[in-house]
Amino acid sequence: MINFQFSRARDVADAILLLTGHPGAKLIAGGTNLIDLMKENVEQPSRLIDISRLPLRTIEETADGGLRVGALVPNSGLAYDPLIEQRYPLLASAILAGASAQLRNMASVGGNLMQRTRCAYFYDTATPCNKRTRSSGCSAIDGLNRNHAILGASNSCIATNPSDMSVALAALDALVHIAGPSGERTMALTDFHRLPGETPDIDTNLEADEIITAVELPPRGFASNYSYLKIRDRLSYAFALVSVAAVLELEGNAISEARVALGGVAHKPWRSAEAEMALRGQAATVEHFSRFADSLLQEAKARSHNGFKIELARRAIVRTLMQAASATPQSQAHKKIA
Ligand SMILES: Cc1cc2nc3c(=O)[nH]c(=O)nc-3n(C[C@H](O)[C@H](O)[C@H](O)COP(=O)(O)OP(=O)(O)OC[C@H]3O[C@@H](n4cnc5c(N)ncnc54)[C@H](O)[C@@H]3O)c2cc1C
Ligand code: SF4
Repeated sequence: MINFQFSRARDVADAILLLTGHPGAKLIAGGTNLIDLMKENVEQPSRLIDISRLPLRTIEETADGGLRVGALVPNSGLAYDPLIEQRYPLLASAILAGASAQLRNMASVGGNLMQRTRCAYFYDTATPCNKRTRSSGCSAIDGLNRNHAILGASNSCIATNPSDMSVALAALDALVHIAGPSGERTMALTDFHRLPGETPDIDTNLEADEIITAVELPPRGFASNYSYLKIRDRLSYAFALVSVAAVLELEGNAISEARVALGGVAHKPWRSAEAEMALRGQAATVEHFSRFADSLLQEAKARSHNGFKIELARRAIVRTLMQAASATPQSQAHKKIA
């Protein structure tokens, strides 16, 4: 049994105060990831700080025409909010591709960004894992690595980030609002998650005494030409082998802007500004999208069991971009591969 203190934060300042000077403290929101990890002895917080009653549950218009989404907005509340459905359908689609209805009712925006990898060795305390215990070794590199990273991995860790929401937020250029002892700051979602390097135990660039207060969506939601495609072993209740969030702006059949983020392939949502730039001015064709996929995957590296993911990702990228170009986005409600 893990012995821990339990506190309920009165407000954001109180949550920061309770975190400060307690490196073993953890915030708890919906609890759908943290409680599982505590039951498996993977997480052993000395102090649990309940933030679930903080007033961070609103979705508000920003002055520039975007939206500010509170960190405690439930995943289901966000996906079914009319403003999100109409203006940011890519985000709604990505959320509905994840977990189950019950989990989405409990899971929060902040918790979704902070959820930990699903590498089986990370959950198995009988095996070495650098993410669980720094410098203990990585069991996946020479073990079962079918689900693991093909991009951005290191010799210390080849785990992937499991979040669907983060992949859509990366494609939408979302911002993360953070509060800590020295005040508030904002970080691009694409800078929020880290590559593993030598310190895979640190998933994000959030400091230990900071709290996510909101996610900000910029005004452009790309509601006409978007698609989120998630390829997984089962069509529900499974994490992505590969997922693709794609948005396009078209002038006729010519691409004026393209953004593509990959999930299930790296320690963070994967984008390449250079590859996206090269699509500008091109016609929206299979040929150009195939070239783009090659460029996005040029650094991809296979391990013993996950080589199939490179070709899977290549095909998924082309399919998702074609769906976005023809305004026929992937349906998450009907769970069909279009
Ligand atoms: C069976 C199962 C299937 C799932 N399938 C999917 C899937 O297909 N796709 C997918 O994307 N997800 C999936 N999930 C994961 C689910 O989305 C996450 O568990 C959930 O989003 C976490 O949110 P939470 O509020 O419950 O977080 P919690 O469990 O409360 O917290 C998780 C982490 O976030 C930290 N945290 C929480 N809020 C904040 C904050 N405001 N600021 C800073 N840190 C914070 C906590 O300290 C903790 O470290 C699945 C989960 C389960 C159990
Ligand atoms: S891939 Fe990462 S999470 Fe998995 S065993 Fe290796 S170090 Fe641990």
